[in-house]
Parts: sequence; C-alpha cells; structure tokens
Amino acid sequence: MNALSSSQAAAIEVVALTKQYGVGQPAVDSISLRIGSGSYCCLLGPSGCGKSTTLRMIAGHESVTSGDILLESRNITNLPAAARGTAMMFQSFALFPHLSALDNVAFSLKMKGIGKTERHKSALDLLERVAMGPLAQRKPGELSGGQQQRVALARALITQPRVLLLDEPLSALDPFLRIQMRAELRRWQKQLGLTFIHVTHSQEEAMALADTMVVMNHGLIEQVGSPHDVYNRPASEFVARFMGGHNVLDTPTGKMGVRTDHMQLTPASQAQPESVHNTWAVVTDVEYQGTYVLLGLQNPGTAKTAHTTAEMSVMVSEAKFAERPYALAETVQLSWAPEAAHALAS
Ligand code: ADP
Ligand code: MG
Repeated sequence: MNALSSSQAAAIEVVALTKQYGVGQPAVDSISLRIGSGSYCCLLGPSGCGKSTTLRMIAGHESVTSGDILLESRNITNLPAAARGTAMMFQSFALFPHLSALDNVAFSLKMKGIGKTERHKSALDLLERVAMGPLAQRKPGELSGGQQQRVALARALITQPRVLLLDEPLSALDPFLRIQMRAELRRWQKQLGLTFIHVTHSQEEAMALADTMVVMNHGLIEQVGSPHDVYNRPASEFVARFMGGHNVLDTPTGKMGVRTDHMQLTPASQAQPESVHNTWAVVTDVEYQGTYVLLGLQNPGTAKTAHTTAEMSVMVSEAKFAERPYALAETVQLSWAPEAAHALAS
C-alpha cells in the first residue's frame, strides 16, 4: 500500500506538526502525514530523529508547539490523553507483577471507579479476544513472553481505542522472542482491524510489520511508502544507507542507488569496457552468510566514469561464489543493469 490518497479514510492525520523543546532545530519539524484506517504504520529512523516525540504528541503525553492532529477527522490536538481514542502499549509490556492478568487488564477501569463485577467482565471479554481467557488468574511471572504481550494488548484495548500506539515495544526482548512477538503483533493487528502506529529504530522490524513505513531523520520525514517501495526505491541517500542493502554511487549525472544483490562481479580478465553501468573495485572482505557470500569492496578511484563512493558491498549467491570464488585484494569489475540504478536525492 502506498501513501494514502486524499479520498481514503485516515485514522490519524498530522498537519505541519512541530515540537520545539529549546532553541535550535525542532525535535519534530512541521511534519504532515496521513495514516490509513486499519493499517500497520511504523515510524522508523535513527535514535533522536523525533519518533517518540511524534508518538507522544499523538498520544497526548506531549504538548504540540504548532500544527494539528486529527483522529478520524476530529481535531484532538488539545484533548487530554484519555479523551483522544488512542492507547499506548509500552516497552516490555510494563505489567504490574503482583496483579493477575485480569486485574492488569481491568486496572484503568478501576481507576475510573467502575465496579468490580463490571470491570472484570469487560477485562475477561478482552482476554478472551486475545485467547487468554483460561489464564486470566495468572500473574505476569507465570506467563510466557507471548502471553504477557497479549495481556498488555488487552490492557491497552480496554479503553476501546481507535488507534494503538507502540513505542519500541520489542526492543528490550531477546532476539528470538522479538521475532516471535512481532509476528504475534502483526497477527493481532489484522485480526482486531485496528490502526497501529509502532515506533522502531530497526529497519528489519519495520519491514516485517508495516503496511506503511515512515522514515524519519532530524525531525523530518524522508520517505513514506510500503516496505517494498522504500526498499526498492529509497528516495534519498539517507534512506538508502539507513535501510541497508544498497550501494550509493557518485555518477556523472548525480547520486545513484543500486541494491547489493543487483550488482554482478566479473574477474578483471573478463572486464567489459568502462561505462556508467560498471565500476572497478578491490575485494576487502569476504563473509560467508550461508545462502550467500557478502563481499566488501573498495573503489580504487580509477574508473573514468567516476564512481567515487568508496565503500561498497555485493551479495553473491553461494552457488555463484563456489563457481568462481573471489580472493582478498583481487581487483574486479562491478556491473549492473541500467534499470537497477535509481537516482537518490542527497
Ligand atoms: P527518537 O524517539 O527518534 O529516538 P525523540 O523523539 O525521543 O527521538 O527525540 C528527538 C529529539 O528531541 C532528540 O534530540 C531529543 O534529545 C530531544 N528531546 C526528546 N525529549 C525531550 C525533552 N523532554 N526535552 C528536551 N529535549 C528532548
Ligand atoms: Mg524513542
């Protein structure tokens, strides 16, 4: 799915949203964005780029310097967090260890003064929706990571939000659990049909989860698109480098990106005449990765076609590498199909 067209329903729309903490560059610098109803949106970017600030402004946990936030066309910019129709799911689930799953889920209803019978009924309904009904009396310590995540999800859903906000919910988990949990998050999001906005600094996590990725840098949006579009057509040098898997080349016509698995290696003895679709390189690193071999390469700066960007990498399938292995310090020619290269804004 691409960026929303103006006729599609947006769950969240932000318009020229800005957060200025002190002096200097704003943490969030007049960003505008529409997030489709029922979609999984990931805000992605390096640490400090303004992801959490954006999410906290949407949640109502941070005031807005200027701009607007609309939820299903309702302006919520100045509403208190509890009146917005959003809910937040925190890192590592943040469950109360001494309360049962049921009481964790019912907690916010208790704070609102809702009676025990009624709040337990609502909480049990939700736990049943995430297949946790039979374990409602267990405490978090008696549940697996996946089960705890489902309790955290039920707890966030008890206020009947239209949009669920998640700030690095998986970052503190070990790698194995993280991959399991992200598959579960994705499954529940589709099953519940809710809009999720998930902040992460991991491009791998965003690619695995998102319908729409929003790549941020220095408080600005660099690119919005499906994981496929962003990976195949990074809009800028920053996005190409941040997503990884791309080489950035300086050519006579400007900066170009080429995927590391879309470059071919040729031994120097079989090199083609120099053109804008090839360059010279010296092998500096050979890493066996199982299904492929990752070669690190350095441009010696001798190509007349002026591909001057120094560091490159190329993925060669294991079978191809076995046919013709490349050695450290070997000079090779890299080439690519004209359509494999696309222009990058710098
Ligand atoms: P991210 O979540 O992408 O890592 P943040 O949104 O937390 O980034 O921060 C964006 C910028 O705003 C950073 O430069 C950060 O130091 C600054 N910042 C965040 N919160 C505050 C705050 N409460 N007061 C002052 N500066 C802040
Ligand atoms: Mg953050």
